Amino acid sequence: MQTQFSKQDLEKPVFAEAEEILHKCVHCGFCTATCSSYVIQGDERDSPRGRIYMIKEMFENGGTPDKNMVTHIDRCLSCLSCVTTCPSRVDYMHLIDLSRTHIEKNFKRPIKQRLVRNVLSAILPFPGRMRVAMRLGVLAKPFQNVFGKIGLSELGSMLSLMPLRLPRAGKYASGRFGKKSNHKQLQRRVIVIPGCASSVLRPSIHDAAVNMLLQNNIQVIVPEKAGCCGALDHHMGKEKAAMEMAKNMVNTISKEMEIDPVEAVLVTASGCGTQVKDFGHVFRNEPGYSSRGQEIADITQDITEFLVDLSFQAPSQWSDLKVAYHSACSMQHGQNVNDAPRKLLERAGYNIVEIAEGHLCCGSAGTYNILQKDIADQLLKRKVDNINLVKPDLIATGNIGCITQIASGTDIPIVHTAELVNWAYGGACPKELEHLKPRTNKVKDFIYADAAE
Ligand code: SF4
Ligand code: SF4
Repeated sequence: MQTQFSKQDLEKPVFAEAEEILHKCVHCGFCTATCSSYVIQGDERDSPRGRIYMIKEMFENGGTPDKNMVTHIDRCLSCLSCVTTCPSRVDYMHLIDLSRTHIEKNFKRPIKQRLVRNVLSAILPFPGRMRVAMRLGVLAKPFQNVFGKIGLSELGSMLSLMPLRLPRAGKYASGRFGKKSNHKQLQRRVIVIPGCASSVLRPSIHDAAVNMLLQNNIQVIVPEKAGCCGALDHHMGKEKAAMEMAKNMVNTISKEMEIDPVEAVLVTASGCGTQVKDFGHVFRNEPGYSSRGQEIADITQDITEFLVDLSFQAPSQWSDLKVAYHSACSMQHGQNVNDAPRKLLERAGYNIVEIAEGHLCCGSAGTYNILQKDIADQLLKRKVDNINLVKPDLIATGNIGCITQIASGTDIPIVHTAELVNWAYGGACPKELEHLKPRTNKVKDFIYADAAE
């Protein structure tokens, strides 16, 4: 794609980076067919190619971005389905990030939008604040429909996604867990990031992951002050806040790594995983953080990537429950993690079924289901319709955002992959599945054969 940036513009790192990305797009439009917002809206301006043109124009024109362009850029879910489709490897992820930051700096949103975005940014990344908000939310939940009628539909959306009860704090919320090996060289040790929203909404995910690691004699460090990786703010273009959070996470993890070396940093929410794996890029212009950011990014893995390489014994409970596996966008498009979760579930005895149109987003996408409820609802309906076609006993996924979103549209139980695997190997049963009875050690031989691959 030809661009018309002036020499002066190209001296600014943002414009230079945007130009490099824009040049790669050959306008072929392959990405349009797999775009989560285009399949709903059917408007070229809500497709990746359309947005790429708009972003080019927005940067070339400079100044205040056009209101219509902002609307179409806001409708992008950052699901990154276009990135895995594009044959020219256009780095749409970083292009849309640059445009969101540019909009945040140069466009004055209507007051209501600003208010909602600021409230989300002030609450969601902070577990303590989120717990208080959830306690109040439980009281306000019966009135969620009223908020829509008085023009505060975003608040109503937030309440509709909240659980009816606030879960208890997890067992492994912070600290060092697991025995030290007598052989220093043989000691395996990892850091597990507890997550912000996830640690409040569903601490059982983190507990299940830590439990699996401890069962495999791996020491686990859960840093108390790791906080949020900055992804939620980053996707709203709030770069300053996102950067502060990411820096805090890097400082906290680096400190732990100085005390004891670790072989991996593990994440249980794929939305966060995509962000932490990108720390090398996030800190590319930050002296003092760029090499540490890259070092952390290099050893970061989704929990399933790490668990799949361990040699498990046979599951203590064997179940052939039919599991529809929903691959979160941040898992399949953001991190290219596809086989590990499916393989883990299969080894644990579950019967995995694929969901049609699995490349499309469920509508969660960080705060998208609050800020763009209409499109998010349509994507949710489409996802649930596709899930219903395979008639599963339950749904498994690797991202708290997807769990919350899909659970709001179906009665089929939905749990995290780590919870499901942990249950099969003798860990706690996810509360949604307490009515399902697993069978005991039905086919041990299969497990050993598969683990030896
Ligand atoms: S598939 Fe890639 S090259 Fe083709 S229009 Fe989309 S972004 Fe551009
Ligand atoms: S990130 Fe998703 S919604 Fe945005 S343009 Fe790409 S495919 Fe479409």
